[in-house]
Amino acid sequence: MTPEDNALVARRAKLLGPNVHLFYDEPLHLVRGEGAWLYDAQERKYLDCYNNVAHVGHCHPHVVAAIAKQASMLNTHTRYLHEGILNYVERLMAMHHRNINTAIMVCTGSEANDIALRMAQAANGKIGIIATNHTYHGNTTAVSQLSTTSPPMGGYASHVRHVSAPDSYRPLGGKGGAAHGRAFAAEVEKACQSLIETGQGVSGMIICPFFVNEGFPDLHKGFLDEAAAIIRRHGGLIIADEVQPGFGRIGSHFWGYERIGLVPDIVTMGKPMGNGHPVACVATSLELMTQFRGMFKYFNTFGGNPVSCAAANAVLDVLETENLQQRAEITGDYLRQCLKALSDKHDLIGDVRGSGLAIGVELVLDRKTKAPARKLTEKVVNGLRQRGVLAGSNGFDYNILKIRPPMQFGMPEADLLISTLDTVLAGL
Ligand code: PMP
Repeated sequence: MTPEDNALVARRAKLLGPNVHLFYDEPLHLVRGEGAWLYDAQERKYLDCYNNVAHVGHCHPHVVAAIAKQASMLNTHTRYLHEGILNYVERLMAMHHRNINTAIMVCTGSEANDIALRMAQAANGKIGIIATNHTYHGNTTAVSQLSTTSPPMGGYASHVRHVSAPDSYRPLGGKGGAAHGRAFAAEVEKACQSLIETGQGVSGMIICPFFVNEGFPDLHKGFLDEAAAIIRRHGGLIIADEVQPGFGRIGSHFWGYERIGLVPDIVTMGKPMGNGHPVACVATSLELMTQFRGMFKYFNTFGGNPVSCAAANAVLDVLETENLQQRAEITGDYLRQCLKALSDKHDLIGDVRGSGLAIGVELVLDRKTKAPARKLTEKVVNGLRQRGVLAGSNGFDYNILKIRPPMQFGMPEADLLISTLDTVLAGL
């Protein structure tokens, strides 16, 4: 690290407080981004294989221009009439299942999920909520109740139940496919019964339909059918958190819920929506929205402002004009093929999975025992960083290499990632 970077680390600790997370043993001081590339203060370039927020590429000129144009004209809130929010919501809802047709625009995924929880409660008067046991849905007081990765102060509230997150590499009950789906549903039924016994009842279940934070399990279409039917039988709603898989990232489908074959009652979106501009959204049927609006007069000062809507609209333009969903599917297929070929050479790679540009590479100490190689994964992530390739890790044991790049990532970038990973693995 340069003396300047060391000084920045010290200033951060003083001004932002201790324990503010920085990526990598040797933190990066980034000053510029373009497409799938990031540049540090010394103009060294890094291939970004991690940042899903810069969905259509860092600083995409079309998005930048749209933000600048609207910011120079008007920026207010939703208590005035403006076409921007209407044009955007109309366009976005047309991309969803017909049951998802009205929306509230907010600024973060956490806010979107916070509203979603209240919507489910408003719909059926129950408060019990079910989530998976290695999830993250955000950081409001209500939503942090769901997150096992950042548990709430004072422990979990009595209306929260966690069920085992699906893991296709080590399926619950030992068997994959339909048996795995049944085992998951059995846990959901148990959680519902427990909420009914304590009197809270079932307001719903919130899941990322591609289980990204849980480690990208490969699940068949219909995996969630039985679990969803159980929730609905108990009067609950299904909330799909599309903050990570949405907007074409998974290639085969625009939304994670389409891939798993589920029609949710409520959908939340965020992160990639504004390409870095803070835009998020919660969407549902007009009927549910009417119930929610009847109980809560929700207003969000910044949510749905004209600049945010211009940014979000420009992201949809780029996805369409540059055909990025299809590109993610093609590049992702190629990348997984190469990663599987790499696993013939390196025993550390236990499993390669994912779809489109949401890819997990599980690193294990032993392919028979599947013992997670947590420390080595950290070493690999730092080794890649030293060689100019940025990735991360996730999963229960943080032994899954997380590959989730901007969608402008193409074949040359895939080749560079593979050759660098090969070098890093060989040098362990
Ligand atoms: N849901 C999921 C699945 C997420 O991964 C995250 C953030 N990583 C959130 C919600 C929260 O979004 P935000 O940080 O915008 O509040």
